[in-house]
Parts: sequence; structure tokens; C-alpha cells
Amino acid sequence: MNNLKNTKKYNIAIIGAGASGLLASIFLTKKNHTVTIFEKNNKVGKKLLATGNGRCNVTNENISLNNFYSHSDIQQINPILENFNYKKCKNFFNNIGVEFVNNEIGRVYPMSQNSSSIVDSLEYEALNNGVKIELNSKIEDISYDEQYYIINGKKYDKLIIATGSTAMPKLGGDKSGYNFAKQFHHSTIDPFASLVQLVSDNKNLEMISGVKVDGVVENKQGDILFTKYGLSGSAILDISRDISYKLQHQKSVKVTVDILPTFSKNKLVDMLLQRAKTLASRDIYVWLDGIVNKKLSRYIIIESKIPENIKFAKFLNRKDILKIVHTIKNLEFNITDTKGFETCEVCAGGVILDDINLHTMESKLQKNLYFIGEVLDVDGDCGGYNLHFAWASGYTLAQNLR
Ligand SMILES: Cc1cc2nc3c(=O)[nH]c(=O)nc-3n(C[C@H](O)[C@H](O)[C@H](O)COP(=O)(O)OP(=O)(O)OC[C@H]3O[C@@H](n4cnc5c(N)ncnc54)[C@H](O)[C@@H]3O)c2cc1C
Repeated sequence: MNNLKNTKKYNIAIIGAGASGLLASIFLTKKNHTVTIFEKNNKVGKKLLATGNGRCNVTNENISLNNFYSHSDIQQINPILENFNYKKCKNFFNNIGVEFVNNEIGRVYPMSQNSSSIVDSLEYEALNNGVKIELNSKIEDISYDEQYYIINGKKYDKLIIATGSTAMPKLGGDKSGYNFAKQFHHSTIDPFASLVQLVSDNKNLEMISGVKVDGVVENKQGDILFTKYGLSGSAILDISRDISYKLQHQKSVKVTVDILPTFSKNKLVDMLLQRAKTLASRDIYVWLDGIVNKKLSRYIIIESKIPENIKFAKFLNRKDILKIVHTIKNLEFNITDTKGFETCEVCAGGVILDDINLHTMESKLQKNLYFIGEVLDVDGDCGGYNLHFAWASGYTLAQNLR
């Protein structure tokens, strides 16, 4: 506490009233700094409102380095995660009036199940602490006179870039943070879409559009939704970072889906051999109805390339059944693209970590300049990790600003 009393008071500008900027502003004003946030949207936290399908997956009970990625050594962010662990995060939100509920896999939501509780509480707390929020203020120009940062003609001792990434421009996604970083000699990794739907050129995809399975794709289990353009669903978002990365260097990537992961190959073979006898007169295109969705039933037979002269189940031999089982366990999709920045939840890439002091979030290249949140080259898995990094980096900055 004495420590806090002795620190100098600064006039601070934050660009971006999203997750990291709002949280940082609250802790900075608690230390009696004067804080102005510039936000280009007409309200704060527009992206936050859309998180978790409108419920906001605020954090995760199990915050671990394993859930985060960077082009630099990810171990470097450990102090940030330790500064603001799950318990601190929970205490902070409880203190501003938000109770948490946790689901069975550790994802944490506001008890109201409504992201507006998070945004409203952060905004209320910030305003109540005296943070000045300038809405409809897109910052395009920052100058520096060797002592002060000058924004819209006003001077600031310190500047915090909390602009987020290019993900979802309609919610505020913007590349200006990277441009500001470059202005002050920082290097960036070109952002690429993560937690994003995948586009496939498989020609029969339309046949199974709208079908959802609880499957396994590249070792990730969860919902897989087949759409006209390709693949969506939680398991697809989980693998999308890796695919998106590969697509930067190659034209397409093959992924395989196991649509019946709870059945072993042998169990399925036995089941289908038996089924070929009991449903002997069934048209092979509807023969799998009752095991899988009927659209998939037809699709699997087509993808298995069963000879055209086989019209009924009774004519399927063991070799045909093995082919069908192989298709069910390894449904192949050729991924040619992602749905990109327009729909992705986060961007991988951003301002390179090696030029940031990760104990204070201050630039190592430019005095009194700070970066927090998704503008940095850190991204996380689906499950509350991205917001946790935004909160934790905002907190780390505010607690250590001298
Ligand atoms: C649909 C969707 C769902 C998501 N769901 C979750 C989830 O449930 N859990 C989770 O952990 N993560 C989720 N995320 C990711 C999470 O929202 C982000 O990682 C997080 O918001 C990043 O925080 P930030 O402070 O860095 O940036 P943001 O929250 O994006 O805030 C940046 C702010 O800066 C403003 N800005 C940008 N440039 C300028 C400028 N030049 N001048 C003025 N203002 C500017 C923007 O308008 C924006 O308000 C989701 C993302 C999306 C798109």
C-alpha cells in the first residue's frame, strides 16, 4: 500500500475500450492516475458483448501455459498468468458485482449467463473511478515529442495500446495497433485467423449441410457441424489455429473426421456385417439410417465408392463393409481456406513479445509505451483463455506501472 502512495501520478491514454483496456483503466485509477480511454465504437466492449455466444466465457478454472501460443517462447508470459491467476480474476469480478458459474469442463461464465453483466460492470467501475471514456474516437495519429504522447492535441505521459487484433472488424477488429507498434519500431507477426470455421472444396458437401455430429477431428473431440462451405463447431475451432497456420505455407490441408468415435473399427465391422443380413433388402443409400443422420448415410456410401451395381445391402461383401467403416472413421475433407478475419474469434500473431518487458508490459524500444491484450503475439485456446490473457496483461501493466 505504501508503495502505491509513493508512486508518481501520470496522465495516461489508453487506445481501446475492450477487455484489456477497461480492466487496466480500473486498476490505474485505483492508483490515482488520470486515465482517458479512446474508443472508436459508439459503446465500450462491443466485442466483449459477443463473446461466448452472448454469455461471455470470462476465464477458465484451469489456466495453464499449455493453452497459449506465440511465435516467441510462450514461457515468457508465465509472470502475467501468475500475477492474475484464476482466483485473482474471480475476486476482481466478484468485487465489481459479477458472480461466476463454472461448467463441467472448467469454463467460467457470469452467473447471469449474459455478457452485458461483464461489460456493464467494467464500464460502471471505470466511470465510477473517474476514467474518462471518449467514444466514437478512432485514433489514427499519435505523435511523440520526446516527452509526451500527443493524441487529439492533448499530451499524455504514458500511452497504452489496447486495440485488440484484426478479428471481426464489425465488432471493432482493427489493424491500427500493429501500425502504432511499427511507428515505434516494433516488429509484428502478420496476424492470421484462429478459432475460425474452415472452408473445404469437397464437392458433395452440400449434401450434408446442417448435419452436426459429436465426432473427433485430428484428435479433438466435440461438435462438428458440416456446412455448405465447409466445417464448423467447437472441435473445428479447436484445430483451426494449426490449419490456418499451415494454409499460410500450403494450398490445402487434409483433415479427417471420425463420426462415430465411441465405436471401435472392429465393433463397427461386426455391427455392419450383421446389419447387412438383418436389413438385407434395404437400399444401400438408406441402409445406414438409424446409425447416422440420413444425409450422412447417403454421403458415406458415395464417399466409400461402393460399386454402382450394388443396390441393396445384401450384396455388400466384407471388403465393401471395410471400406464403409474406413469412411465413417476417416471422413476426409480437403481444407482450402478459413473463413478469415470476418468471422474468427481471435488472431494469432501480432506485436512480437521479445521487445516487450512482460513484467510491466512496457516496450523495450520506446519509453512509456505499453501493449496489452490481443494486439500482442499471444493467442489462446477456446475456453476463456483469450479473455484471461487480456485481463491478466491489463492487470500486470497497472500493478507495475511506475
Ligand atoms: C465472436 C467472439 C467470441 C469470443 N468469445 C470469447 C470467449 O467467450 N472467451 C474468450 O476468452 N475470448 C473470446 N473471444 C476473444 C476475446 O473477445 C478477445 O481475445 C478479447 O476481447 C481481446 O481483448 P483486447 O482488449 O485485446 O481487445 P478488444 O476486446 O477487441 O478491444 C479492443 C478495442 O479497441 C478498439 N479500437 C481498435 N482500434 C482503435 C483505434 N484506432 N482507436 C480507438 N479504438 C480502437 C476496438 O473498437 C475495441 O473496442 C471472442 C471473440 C469473438 C470475436
